[in-house]
Amino acid sequence: MKITALAGGVGGAKLAHGLAHVLPPEDLTIIVNTGDDFEHLGLSICPDLDTVCYTLAGLANSETGWGRAGETWNTIANIERLGGPAWFRLGDQDIATHLERTRRLKEGQSLSSITREFCQAWGIQPTVLPMTDAPVRTMVNTNEGELAFQEYFVHRRCEPIVKGFRFDGVTEAKPAPGVREALDTADAVIFCPSNPWVSIDPILSVVKKITKPVIAVSPIIGGKAVKGPAAKMYTELGIEPSALAVAKHYRTTLAGFVLDTTDRESEAQIIALSIKTQVTDTLMNHLTERVRLANDVLHFIGSL
Ligand code: GDP
Repeated sequence: MKITALAGGVGGAKLAHGLAHVLPPEDLTIIVNTGDDFEHLGLSICPDLDTVCYTLAGLANSETGWGRAGETWNTIANIERLGGPAWFRLGDQDIATHLERTRRLKEGQSLSSITREFCQAWGIQPTVLPMTDAPVRTMVNTNEGELAFQEYFVHRRCEPIVKGFRFDGVTEAKPAPGVREALDTADAVIFCPSNPWVSIDPILSVVKKITKPVIAVSPIIGGKAVKGPAAKMYTELGIEPSALAVAKHYRTTLAGFVLDTTDRESEAQIIALSIKTQVTDTLMNHLTERVRLANDVLHFIGSL
């Protein structure tokens, strides 16, 4: 079964990791959000792409869900000592990724081509694609005005109250080479349990149309996000955070929806939206849970 998965960082990377253990590499393509990308300390940083790649390569820090395992922090500590900006924590190994990516981008290589070569170097076999090679930047409209995504997310720790989102540059951005083909040749498209507003929506705003059956996995369990501001965003936008709210968010696109056992009581309401459902354990702390959920999702797709 050929699968194309859409992913943000932490939640997306976990399911992508499970899928990579279950599917032959030629049958799995992961399209990653680049709306979180930004330029910082002169470096081009792609947080979601790096989280997905580090996770697939077994290089990720399993405690934080982002960054590298066994990381040291000498560079950022010395930048801070010199009075430079240290709010975005960059480890020494991680900085090597950003330095080398920035060097290649400056030489004119595309982000998708750099990502392909980094994946080879890290021994990652499934195809990992940025959603676009063009700069698309998620902007967060808040009670304090419009903020660039990392300014809102990391610098301001998601404190400002969210009023909406804008994906700057999206009108000019084309899907990266391979993205359209991966979506059109897949048997099914999986929306990983990523933040609907700022991880999946930016990808959808670039790719626009998906013609193959879409199955989403809920990032909201028991009304809460496992990590990050997804539930807070729902509340601030006037929607009660729940698996049902996520299903409604994707409503027009969905063939199937995977929700956590905790949210079983919402199943009937989701079925009433003409969406098929599967109820299972969706928390993925360890590889065994990621593989089990990946298998569950693939069986569900097979049954549709
Ligand atoms: P980000 O770009 O790093 O914020 O990453 P994502 O958008 O991919 O992931 C954030 C979302 O993943 C949050 O809404 C979390 O609730 C969700 N998430 C994280 N871990 C898990 C998990 O183990 N299971 C499920 N179902 N969702 C998760």
